[in-house]
Amino acid sequence: MSVSTAVAQFPQPDGGNLERGTLPARWYSEDAKCMEIPEWQVHEYNPNFIIMRQSPCTDYEKPFVFLFFGKEKAMLVDTGSRNGNLTPALQLVVKNWLTRNGRTSIPLIVTHTHEHEDHTWGDKALQALNDPAMPIIFVPSEVEASKRFFGIANWPRDTGQIDLGGRVLDVIPIPGHSKVSIAFYDRNTGVVLSGDTMYPGRLYVQDFPAFQASVERLIAFTKGKPVAHLLGNHIEESSTPFLDYPVGTMYQPNEHELAMPRGELLELDEALVAMHGTPKREALRDFSVWPSGPGFGSAAERNAYKKNVEEQRAKMWDQTKP
Ligand SMILES: [Zn+2]
Ligand SMILES: [Zn+2]
Repeated sequence: MSVSTAVAQFPQPDGGNLERGTLPARWYSEDAKCMEIPEWQVHEYNPNFIIMRQSPCTDYEKPFVFLFFGKEKAMLVDTGSRNGNLTPALQLVVKNWLTRNGRTSIPLIVTHTHEHEDHTWGDKALQALNDPAMPIIFVPSEVEASKRFFGIANWPRDTGQIDLGGRVLDVIPIPGHSKVSIAFYDRNTGVVLSGDTMYPGRLYVQDFPAFQASVERLIAFTKGKPVAHLLGNHIEESSTPFLDYPVGTMYQPNEHELAMPRGELLELDEALVAMHGTPKREALRDFSVWPSGPGFGSAAERNAYKKNVEEQRAKMWDQTKP
């Protein structure tokens, strides 16, 4: 059932049998130059795994979306945030891949890390797309649809799979940040897509018991498997330990890197366990736990956030005041 015989440890520090790739030293969103920044920054991790990031000039969330190519199908994970306009940039990437591989079309599965608007905003445009080069197989970010498509028997205890042709990804339900959160484990690269559940930033926790259980299931699932990187959906943390950017920040000079090691999940779990079931805000070195259910977050915080967004947007075309 597996195309990979990888284990968590390799006998030599030679990279093992994982397909290698690189991440950029920095993303365009560290710059305050909306005239220059493309709607989507395209980064080729390796020839069959592409990471795209939305411009900060269209939405401060500037999420990442992920595109995997197998021999038979491609799979897009997430469709961007408000005003993202992902489709044209995506079509260009897929067409370039097809040209490089001497092909004319590949079916494209469109799925999601979770149902929040900053990762599903581009759904409608992709569902309406009629491009023979990339016929869309759309999987809505809903529990039943995810169970059916990925073959998950019991949500959230069991895992599912998707085979793109010589490339199997495992699908791990991780509700807690949201109802329909899922993680993906790509056996070829050892990359884990951890969504909004784990990334360098504020980990908003909607359902605390579910979140803790999901983190622990993800730890258990990855135990014994090689994990090259956890790749989440946002960067909100600076490269300075314990320091994030205020909510709503567009440009983020000196960002924390996107990739995190599996060990960060252990640190997160340790922090959650120490809360003994009582959620509280807590800053760790590379991320913070941020309960977001009823009773968390003050009106003053919400106003400060709005003010920050408005101030930054007001000067987004003014390069003298980055
Ligand atoms: Zn979210
Ligand atoms: Zn998000």
